[in-house]
Amino acid sequence: MVRALESHEGPWDFVIVGGGATGLGCAIDASSRGYSALLLEQHDFAKGTSSRSTKLVHGGVRYLKQGNVALVLEALKERGLLLKNAPHLVHDLPFVVPNYTWWEGPYYGIGLKMYDLLAGRSGFGRSKHLSKEETIERIPTIEPDGLDGGVIYYDGQFDDARLAINMAQTAAEQGGVLLNYVRVTGVLKKDEEVAGVRAVDEETGKEYEIGAKAVINATGAFTDAVRAMDDPSAKPMIIPSQGVHIVLDRSFLPGDTAIMVPKTDDGRILFAIPWHDRVLVGTTDTPVDGASLEPRPTEEEIEFLLVHTARYLTRDPGPEDILSTFAGIRPLVGVASEGEETASVSRDHTLHIAPSGLITITGGKWTTYRKMAEDTIDQAALIADLEDRDCVTKSLRLHGYHENTEPFGALASYGSDAPELEALMRDDERYGEPLHPDHAVVAAQVVWAARHEAARTVEDVLARRTRMLLLDARASIAMAPRVARLLAEELGRDEAWQQGQVESYASLARGYLASGPPVSHPTA
Ligand SMILES: Cc1cc2nc3c(=O)[nH]c(=O)nc-3n(C[C@H](O)[C@H](O)[C@H](O)COP(=O)(O)OP(=O)(O)OC[C@H]3O[C@@H](n4cnc5c(N)ncnc54)[C@H](O)[C@@H]3O)c2cc1C
Repeated sequence: MVRALESHEGPWDFVIVGGGATGLGCAIDASSRGYSALLLEQHDFAKGTSSRSTKLVHGGVRYLKQGNVALVLEALKERGLLLKNAPHLVHDLPFVVPNYTWWEGPYYGIGLKMYDLLAGRSGFGRSKHLSKEETIERIPTIEPDGLDGGVIYYDGQFDDARLAINMAQTAAEQGGVLLNYVRVTGVLKKDEEVAGVRAVDEETGKEYEIGAKAVINATGAFTDAVRAMDDPSAKPMIIPSQGVHIVLDRSFLPGDTAIMVPKTDDGRILFAIPWHDRVLVGTTDTPVDGASLEPRPTEEEIEFLLVHTARYLTRDPGPEDILSTFAGIRPLVGVASEGEETASVSRDHTLHIAPSGLITITGGKWTTYRKMAEDTIDQAALIADLEDRDCVTKSLRLHGYHENTEPFGALASYGSDAPELEALMRDDERYGEPLHPDHAVVAAQVVWAARHEAARTVEDVLARRTRMLLLDARASIAMAPRVARLLAEELGRDEAWQQGQVESYASLARGYLASGPPVSHPTA
């Protein structure tokens, strides 16, 4: 990829800043239309919000309550397309809304029937009313005291960071050039118009000046920092808000059904969801001062999640039960600068064009990334004065596409790549060894991540190529020395690099622990 960047002649059609869902979606869309596209990500792909979501591919039931039918329709359509194009990572999931007062059953029942109707033929399953007994049968650990019954409905679930990596691979297969660990530091101008970016390779320190016919700012919570590179007086458009999750052992919610609480005391939605054989509980909505690559849950947020989970489950989780806790920042869109054009493509995402031609795409959600990218590239092609070409992503299969991943067991989320990982394990028996006695992650996944998934650090492997950091932060710290050794072999690194990697990973991962016994310092 570095060679492709350095050997490219002339300006790129598009330089995309940011390698989360939005930027990666734009890279796929642009390159699959045959435009030349370069994507630069300052850290790792999906390091930002895109690896910290609730992992739902959903229409957004709550927008229905706000009467925003168009938004729900759009998201439900995208939900269906994502299932079609990435069936190895997206699957349907039953949700139960437990009812503790008599009116909740009919109230939520009608709303969810409407959700079914809007989904139409791309629906994941029909909602229906459940008796108290049926609700308990579905969720044996649901709090039975005062339970009246429930409503079951269906939505989608996925693995966000794995999808992001497969999206980067898809964009590359379509001819795109994508680099992680290259940070955009400035905007190049010609006659007041954006003509490219200045960037630095964070691994080597090498600086680049890169020409582009259009620059797309897809930096999520960092949107305003990149807009300020273009225009230091640009009024901020992002109002950042933090959402926190806690991860618990599966025994808190056995079975395959999630719980959705439409309204907690303070009006938030709360989910408890089975995910990779753990339970994910979230989320909160706390205003924060600004963007951070490592937002941290506050004690109040963790307490809020524990208290509310305890209300709906027979066993009350405590801080000691938290296997991991993580935070993500919602790039909520506020008001645009005066005199600038804000093409609000939908209430959910915002496409903004600065007077210099800098294109900013932000807001929205994971589920709608494809539509966001389609809208962005349509607009960017106009700004770059490129030949009009149709979007092809509605039917473009994503890397790893596979219709039946069940036979791949623990490697199912690799989809069509799984047989190649199995071959790695057959060729070298060391690669079949688990990285931890309590977990199914094997050495082959580290080797694969380095060779085919652009993993550069221990964190890349443990946080986003595998999801160990989110599933069991403590166990992931124990895995770090082994991961560092395997990566060092693949990337040609020395002992000092390994030691540095293990130390920085352990320090990062300790931030994902809520409390519990102290973590020993692993050595490489
Ligand atoms: C708590 C929470 C739960 C959510 N749950 C769901 C859900 O279940 N389903 C759903 O559909 N949506 C969900 N969302 C929304 C969804 O996660 C986001 O809309 C989406 O991930 C945003 O992606 P993005 O690419 O715009 O931003 P990001 O993922 O943050 O990506 C921006 C990237 O830009 C990079 N960057 C910044 N500055 C620079 C620079 N100067 N140079 C190069 N790179 C730079 C950053 O490092 C980052 O990786 C959730 C959001 C939150 C906060």
